[in-house]
Amino acid sequence: MGSDGPRRVWRTETSVPVRVRLSSGVDIGDKGFVVIAGPCAVESATQIEAAAEAVARHGAHGMRGGAYKPRSSPYSFQGLGQPGIEAMSTSARRHHLPVVTEVMDAAQLPAMLDCVDMLQIGARNMQNFSLLKAVGKVKKPVLLKRGLSATLEEWLLAAEYILDGGNEQVVLCERGIRTFEPQLRNTLDLAGVAWIKDRTRLPILVDPSHATGDRALVIPMALAAAAAGADGLLIEVHPEPAKALCDGVQALTPAMFGDLMVALQKVLQAVGRSLAVPGLEHHRPARPVEVRT
Ligand code: PEP
Ligand code: MN
Repeated sequence: MGSDGPRRVWRTETSVPVRVRLSSGVDIGDKGFVVIAGPCAVESATQIEAAAEAVARHGAHGMRGGAYKPRSSPYSFQGLGQPGIEAMSTSARRHHLPVVTEVMDAAQLPAMLDCVDMLQIGARNMQNFSLLKAVGKVKKPVLLKRGLSATLEEWLLAAEYILDGGNEQVVLCERGIRTFEPQLRNTLDLAGVAWIKDRTRLPILVDPSHATGDRALVIPMALAAAAAGADGLLIEVHPEPAKALCDGVQALTPAMFGDLMVALQKVLQAVGRSLAVPGLEHHRPARPVEVRT
């Protein structure tokens, strides 16, 4: 891999694998497959409570939900901001789920740090270098999404900014890239996932929701990601997708999410893996889902 900088050894490339521990004791990048699920956006206390209850009931290891939303249109719902993060944190804690949420601006960090477990850098901010430097200085895991048209090398260089800033807790997230194909929101680069696993020490999640933009395609791509060696999934689930303020067409219903968790276990079993189990006793163990053969 080339670079015009003086560094010869990339921090993403050294041989010790990175394991990122969530507050529940679940490690991303270890043997167990980790599923983080929830709505695109926090919309209300009622909606986020229903979402937390549903994803916990079906065995998710963590919860997602955006309160600062990077929307293409300034007239679309922009998110509830810090009150939304607090509502999600309350519900997630009630259901013993660590929380992942997007930070769009370094100024949002101080208030956010107390109530979230992992900071998401969205695709649109993958090369926001001042934001990357800011999260490089905090002691929280960072989920770094791939830019809309970023090469694998550009993505890893973005991860280098965070690692070089002193934060070793970086997890990548493949969320599809923009290609010439108009039928799909994005094109899921599963070969890129295998490449990352082969060439770097960083864990990687797959987001089949943004990669496809269509709930009918989410389960097949989630299963393919598990078979391809991803360390886990970031997945959109909404208690009532038809009423979602953001990305409803790609949100799984709670029942579909339950079906996915059952199917996932079969695929993982076939490739000699299984769902992660939280390690800390004060946390609810991931609910084992019955696998019918
Ligand atoms: C999201 O996860 O809600 C999101 C906005 O994703 P991305 O940055 O991948 O578009
Ligand atoms: Mn979304």
